[in-house]
Amino acid sequence: MLFEDLNLIEPIKKALKTKGFTKPTPIQSRAIPSLLKGMDLLGCAQTGTGKTAAFAIPILQGISLQHKASANHRQIQALIIAPTRELAIQIADSFEEYGENLTLKTLVIYGGVSQNPQTKELTKGIDILVATPGRLLDLINQRFVSLKNVKYFVLDEADHMLDMGMLQDVRKIIAHLPKEKQTMFFSATMPAEIEKLANSILKSPIKVMVTPPSSTVEIIEQEIYYVDRGNKVNLLIDLLKNKDIISALVFSRTKHGANKIVKNLSKAGLNAEAIHGNKSQTARQLALNNFKERKTRILVATDIAARGIDIEELSHVINFDLPEVPETYVHRIGRTGRARRGGTAISFCSQAEKPLLKSIQKLTTKSIIEINDHAYPLVETNIEAIVKSNGRNTSKKPMTQDKPRSIRRNNEIKKKVARTEKPRSNVKGYKTKND
Ligand code: AMP
Repeated sequence: MLFEDLNLIEPIKKALKTKGFTKPTPIQSRAIPSLLKGMDLLGCAQTGTGKTAAFAIPILQGISLQHKASANHRQIQALIIAPTRELAIQIADSFEEYGENLTLKTLVIYGGVSQNPQTKELTKGIDILVATPGRLLDLINQRFVSLKNVKYFVLDEADHMLDMGMLQDVRKIIAHLPKEKQTMFFSATMPAEIEKLANSILKSPIKVMVTPPSSTVEIIEQEIYYVDRGNKVNLLIDLLKNKDIISALVFSRTKHGANKIVKNLSKAGLNAEAIHGNKSQTARQLALNNFKERKTRILVATDIAARGIDIEELSHVINFDLPEVPETYVHRIGRTGRARRGGTAISFCSQAEKPLLKSIQKLTTKSIIEINDHAYPLVETNIEAIVKSNGRNTSKKPMTQDKPRSIRRNNEIKKKVARTEKPRSNVKGYKTKND
């Protein structure tokens, strides 16, 4: 199927052509025809599947054809709520891109910044509002926003809203919406509370489930480096200095960890920035823009801060820490396989993280290449092997100048090796793949 076959109006077809999109993604070809007919939708999909266009295109077409925007007296006809500012901004950008040949006005509002510029725009009148729940509710309560003319309502990444404790605000927002409207509800997973919410607001929806992992993940080269926790920073520095990495999004499990990584990288002469929830919205946006514009090569992020971030042509995703939830791994690495361009996902796995890796391997079908020839191989496993073999070294790695006699002795060696080990090779182009 092609976009040509979808009964789209000329201005939208033209915008898609400008973007170079000819073929709808699976969620688009399944959702757009039903949405154009006015049906509700329950979409099980995540970022990377093309879901934004799947709802933006029918909304733009619907407003243009049926409700018409009056330039003097615009009223909010479509409301899209998203859990993070970054995602909200990206959705608004998509509306502007797909609607570039239409005369509709889109506004994005989010917290963490002054509300004045937002209220000024709202007063002028807009057709499409993209918002995060907290700021939206604030502005509804201050009567800067009226939702009584909304015909299209989208709830994006509902499960993340649940994770982030936003559901109460979302329910309050829904109470301000008219009963008659078309609702599109997206969530990558369906915990019971989300299912309940979906059932309460959707009317005989069509259900579209897409599994982005396989399509996206298939074109991504996945590599695993076994490394001790204490050596992860050294390995990261080594890779960033010696491997051909154009741009890297590095995932840290915690905000503190992200700051520490940035500090260590800059000590090693590598310019990096961090984005996480403790940073102001302005600082996050600045770091993101610098990264998108290639001013910084390395962006270190936590999962929540990176949610929904769309970076074209990202060459590497590095999982400094493996995620607790295997689906998060797929979300993370999907950032490099955007719009069917390939990329590389590098993951660091310590001894303690091996069970996490096992669950990830169960979920993804494509095999993950193990890279053994690197500067900081896992010491713990070698020590364990030595202990198990009762002091006889069965490992081929040269870790055992001293033959350990007890676990205590092994632990001493372990600490020493972790403290003092230097890269065995830092020659450019050293062989990294185990093939
Ligand atoms: P989304 O899941 O909406 O965040 O979209 C993921 C990425 O796919 C974005 O960079 C879009 O610009 C891109 N994209 C969306 N639809 C298409 C399409 N039909 N063909 C090619 N790329 C697309």
